[in-house]
Amino acid sequence: MYNNNGRALGEERWGLNHFMKCSCCGTCCQKTKMMLSFEDVKRLERLGYDCQKFIFRDRQGFFCLQNDHGHCFFYDVWNHSCKVYKDRPLGCHIYPVIYQVGKEIRVDDICPMKYTVSKRELKRKGKELSDLIQRLSQESKVDFLGILNM
Ligand code: SF4
Ligand code: SF4
Repeated sequence: MYNNNGRALGEERWGLNHFMKCSCCGTCCQKTKMMLSFEDVKRLERLGYDCQKFIFRDRQGFFCLQNDHGHCFFYDVWNHSCKVYKDRPLGCHIYPVIYQVGKEIRVDDICPMKYTVSKRELKRKGKELSDLIQRLSQESKVDFLGILNM
C-alpha cells in the first residue's frame, strides 16, 4: 500500500521523519471501513473514478469506501499497492491512528507496525483525526447525494 515514493511525499509534507515504519502489508486495505469526507470523494472523482462505484452511505449517513472482493475498491491486488496513493482519503493518511466509538483515539491493533508510531505522530494524527471526525459528522447531516448525482 505505501510505496517509497509516497512515503517521501509524506515526509516532505510534514517536514520531518516522524513517521511510522509501514511494512506495506496491505492489512488496512482489506475489508476497509474507512469513512470519506466530501472533499475525499470529489478528489477521487477528479481522477476519473465514478463515485457510485467506490462509495456507499452507511446507516448513520457517513460515506465509506466500498469493498470489492474483500478489499478496498482502490487496492491493487497484483501490485499490493493503493491505486490512488497520492490522493487517498485523509483517513488513510492518518491510519493507523483511529477512533473507535466509545474508546479514545489510539493506534489500531491490527497494524503489525503499530509499535513504530511515536507519541509525537499519535498526537499530531490524533488532532487531524478529531478535526476529520467533526467534519464527517457535519457532512453526514447534509444531503450530498444530489450533489454527487446519486
Ligand atoms: S484508499 Fe488506498 S490506502 Fe485507503 S484503504 Fe483503499 S487501498 Fe488502502
Ligand atoms: S496495516 Fe499498518 S503496516 Fe500494514 S499497510 Fe497498513 S499501515 Fe502499513
